[in-house]
Amino acid sequence: MTPEKDNLHKLLKTHFGYDHFRENQLDIIQDIISGKDTLVIMPTGGGKSMCFQLPSLALSGTALVISPLIALMKDQVDALKANGIRAAYYNSTQAPEEIEKVTHDLREGHLDLIYVAPESLSLLDTLLQEIQVNLIAVDEAHCISSWGHDFRPAYTQLGYLKKRYPETPLVALTATADVSTQDDIAEQLSIPKAKRYVASFDRPNLFLDVRPGQNRIQQILAFLDNHPFESGIVYCLSRKSTEQLAQKLRDADHTAKAYHAGLDAKERAKIQEDFINDKTPIIVATIAFGMGIDKSNVRWVIHYNMPKNIEGYYQEIGRAGRDGIPSHTLLFYSYADTIQLRKFIENSANIEYQTAKLERMQQYAEALSCRRKVLLNYFGEFLIEDCGNCDICKNNPEYFDGTTIAQKVLSGVTRLKEQEALGMVIDVLRGAHNASVYDKGYQHIKTFGAAKDIAWKDLQQYIIQMINQGLLEIRFRESGRLLLTSLAKEVLFKGKKVQLANLVQPIVEIPKERKPKKPKGTLFEKLRELRNELARDENVPAYIIFSDASLKDME
Ligand code: ADP
Ligand code: MG
Repeated sequence: MTPEKDNLHKLLKTHFGYDHFRENQLDIIQDIISGKDTLVIMPTGGGKSMCFQLPSLALSGTALVISPLIALMKDQVDALKANGIRAAYYNSTQAPEEIEKVTHDLREGHLDLIYVAPESLSLLDTLLQEIQVNLIAVDEAHCISSWGHDFRPAYTQLGYLKKRYPETPLVALTATADVSTQDDIAEQLSIPKAKRYVASFDRPNLFLDVRPGQNRIQQILAFLDNHPFESGIVYCLSRKSTEQLAQKLRDADHTAKAYHAGLDAKERAKIQEDFINDKTPIIVATIAFGMGIDKSNVRWVIHYNMPKNIEGYYQEIGRAGRDGIPSHTLLFYSYADTIQLRKFIENSANIEYQTAKLERMQQYAEALSCRRKVLLNYFGEFLIEDCGNCDICKNNPEYFDGTTIAQKVLSGVTRLKEQEALGMVIDVLRGAHNASVYDKGYQHIKTFGAAKDIAWKDLQQYIIQMINQGLLEIRFRESGRLLLTSLAKEVLFKGKKVQLANLVQPIVEIPKERKPKKPKGTLFEKLRELRNELARDENVPAYIIFSDASLKDME
């Protein structure tokens, strides 16, 4: 080991307590120390901060760190101080006394690192010219990209930094790997020659599993029976569902707690701590849970609902198996979830961008080829061989000539005048005798019952595949009605063939016998409890669920 490397390892050990550098860290650190500009792309949790924190200790002077979030800044500074490193932050929320102290320490050269929000940078301008800035780090550098969801206008003004400090190494760091974002960052920060370090996003020890979102609770209970004593996280979309699911898991004798931003800070801290210490092995949480939690032995992560985009999904499953031991990640996918997510997105700014992201997520969930390939591809990486560690690789789908089925579906959609959404299309094709079909008189149309031999779920799968193949289009803004595309006309009128895949049957885990709880109370209450039980079963159509009024009648 060269003396310089030796010294860097010593700094790593004495200040941070770590024995080894992670992938790329040492090279990046050496580049920065030798005055080169760098662009660091590393997944979240990969250890980006170390890349500028360590050089700040090896060089004389102070490192200037631009960081977009006040909370993030504070956490990092607190962690550094706890390690005996002289760090401080400067932003608009500070009291005058605090500002006084920070500027004084900075002027006197008492700081190794100063964290500044981009908006506050100009206020420090004069002072920064008086001191020795040894390096500039732009953290979360993707904020500079105007089409990103984290866009921060103040970031676009950072281009002047390189001009003002041409000799000072500038390092930009982000977890967004997309090549066009990288180019944008390098250009805007005026570091066109910066060496790019792109760490692999692959986490080969994570088993990637996606299953249809039916009977989720039973599937989760069965899953837990097969993973006794293991620690894991279930992510849900809403606070309410975290509470409900945690309760159901407790009812089945699991030690589980709900976690979401609605709980008070003390309670949240306690839940986190009990999770880290293995006192509460199972957390049912919204995405509020996980950021900054360092627990290496999380053995599984379940997504009760599909996340809004692949970045979020990747980050959340990434909390499993940090120790490198095989870990299971399970995503429940249902078409209904995507519709719900579309509705959320419709009310937000940046609809197009978010919709595109959601579509990529949906494609991942519906993929019929190696999932890891799809995932890494998204982050700009290329995997040559199938991974062998995802549900698809373990259980290849079978393709068959689905032309006849596709034609039935397409004529069904035509007969419904392209006015109906997926559920109704399936009901009519299967010849369902229910109120909503009869109300519209659909029992009289020609394609009623044309696909009665296909099970509901299978037909649903086939239609989703047809949507993905571009044969049908969904109008999300018009109650999700299905329309034919021009490609569909080739199937209907020109004999174009359609390949469909048989639904990958989930690796069925047989739930243990569970005794249903005896309902307590009056007859009405008992009936209501049974009714609610039924209503929770996602296989039971809503129209056969009794209302409270009809239960009263029965009583
Ligand atoms: P990022 O900014 O890339 O999301 P962080 O810089 O916050 O990641 O680092 C994530 C975690 O990894 C932190 O707890 C950090 O202390 C830890 N870490 C960083 N470098 C190393 C290392 N060489 N060895 C062990 N842990 C490390
Ligand atoms: Mg970071």
